Amino acid sequence: MKKLINGVTDVVPEMLDGLIAFNPGLMLLDQYAIVVRRDARIGAAEGRVAIVSGGGAGHEPAHAGYVGPGMLTAAVVGEVFTSPSVDAVLEAIRAVAGPAGVVLIVKSYTGDRLNFGLAAELARAEDTRVELVVVGDDVALTAGGVHAGRRGIAGTVLVHKIAGAAAAEGRSLSDVAEAARAAASSMGTMGVALGACTVPAAGEPSFELAEDEIEWGLGIHGEPGVERGPVLGADAIVKRLLGAIIADLGLVSGDSVALLVNNLGGTSVSELGVVAHSALRYLDARGVIVERGWTGTFLTALEMPGCSLTLLKVDDEQIARLDAPTATTAWPSGLGRMASARLDASTTSTPAGDGRVVAASERPEGLTLATDSLLWLAIERVCRVLLDAREVLTVMDQRVGDGDLGISMARGAGSILAEIDTYPSEGSPAAVLRRVSATVRRVVGGTSGPLYAVMLLRAAGALDRDPTDWPAAFAAAVDGVVELGGAQLGDRTMVDALRPAAEALTANGATVDAAVAAAERGATATASMRPRLGRSSYLGDRVLGHVDPGAHAVALWLGAIRDSRPG
Ligand code: ADP
Ligand code: MG
Repeated sequence: MKKLINGVTDVVPEMLDGLIAFNPGLMLLDQYAIVVRRDARIGAAEGRVAIVSGGGAGHEPAHAGYVGPGMLTAAVVGEVFTSPSVDAVLEAIRAVAGPAGVVLIVKSYTGDRLNFGLAAELARAEDTRVELVVVGDDVALTAGGVHAGRRGIAGTVLVHKIAGAAAAEGRSLSDVAEAARAAASSMGTMGVALGACTVPAAGEPSFELAEDEIEWGLGIHGEPGVERGPVLGADAIVKRLLGAIIADLGLVSGDSVALLVNNLGGTSVSELGVVAHSALRYLDARGVIVERGWTGTFLTALEMPGCSLTLLKVDDEQIARLDAPTATTAWPSGLGRMASARLDASTTSTPAGDGRVVAASERPEGLTLATDSLLWLAIERVCRVLLDAREVLTVMDQRVGDGDLGISMARGAGSILAEIDTYPSEGSPAAVLRRVSATVRRVVGGTSGPLYAVMLLRAAGALDRDPTDWPAAFAAAVDGVVELGGAQLGDRTMVDALRPAAEALTANGATVDAAVAAAERGATATASMRPRLGRSSYLGDRVLGHVDPGAHAVALWLGAIRDSRPG
């Protein structure tokens, strides 16, 4: 187990301490892990209904992150994935209760129902008015089977929001409880996990998933789900999750919903965005109107990779309550409305140019290219070699950089091949190289993108001066890379392959074969060079022994040029 913790028993108190440290509106009740609004007693005195939720820890930011104006009055936190005790819940009720009473929002698990249920009973015996609302939004569990009823998962946060807004409006205990129950009964959630999570005290993952497996319909306590299956694309995963929810809620075209795209803990923000995109398209295709939506980390199972989707069927009053202001650490206040318009990129960028710095008509027209000329053959061969080298370059760049070089080069090569028919077949080699440069400039990015773009541009410039002097064009290209990138020989970059190749080309009796050999030697030599530039420089001596991927790529495409010559 690898975690940023001290002792396993310190996790909850230390976490709560750190979480509330920067929210002056909150305080921690010492004896128990209870997070309370600092102004809770004022609200109670003013006759406001208090909202208390909670459960085991491990679901952060739930529930402590939702304590604040407009949402919860207090959150009771148990040990990781363990319901808080009866006494802890009772203590929280006592801390916030006024004459208007308390609504307890409980996720449906046996432990939570029992502890919150008994605490409610004891509080009532103390003449506190308490309503218990149990949330069971997990639709994965409806399809038959013997189980303890639907579990409460991420949709619970929407119940917090709606109940909290109703309480802030000054509604009565029964009204607030009714609003919470109505929300709880008109929503569904289903999750999918790409991996498990590790409870600190257990020290081991809760289940094992193979590299190509996912777990459907899991709970949020690291327990396995209802079914295991092969990994699918985001669209297919969303289809199954939303399909189950829509069927469960009986949603039809024209219904209005709020959508929650929830990170189970270990999912990248970019993947969540992809899931949200898929969900919106899926719902749109079914005529379900998404009135509000949120993407983020709302209710987790520690560091579990995966997500859950929640749909809440909404009416106007619920929408207003979802929109109502809150000030909590975890609710994305002020967001959630569907963006109404997209900016059309074509109106903000200049029309796609052909990359010419100067119009072709102003340039000396050198050789006219026959369609089977050496330049076309070389470009095609280079592109194919770079496409084939995708894996090799990826692995090499993973060792010393960030692993994107193979993908970047392959993306450039693929785009060049896709656009090659639009390049000027009647133009000069220089005009063609400018178009290749423009393609590279547009699609490659990273460090290699601009360096290759300038390389091709400078070569084109030299060919304008002398359309037959390819060695001079190559030397000018390398000068361009050195000028833009600032790398010198020995810095462990592509320059260590380019420069020797350029020198070999301009030497007496030069051949392309000699240039390729020089580039290969130069690339090999990078393995013993210390990096001074580029991402490798962050790794320092750890890269020693590995060839620089950019230099290797140069040797590859020079080899491709050599091999493209007929005979
Ligand atoms: P990044 O990951 O930084 O976007 P790429 O993966 O596109 O970069 O390219 C990595 C290669 O770029 C390196 O292997 C190295 O050969 C080359 N490189 C890095 N910095 C420079 C530089 N300043 N000048 C020339 N080449 C460089
Ligand atoms: Mg890289």
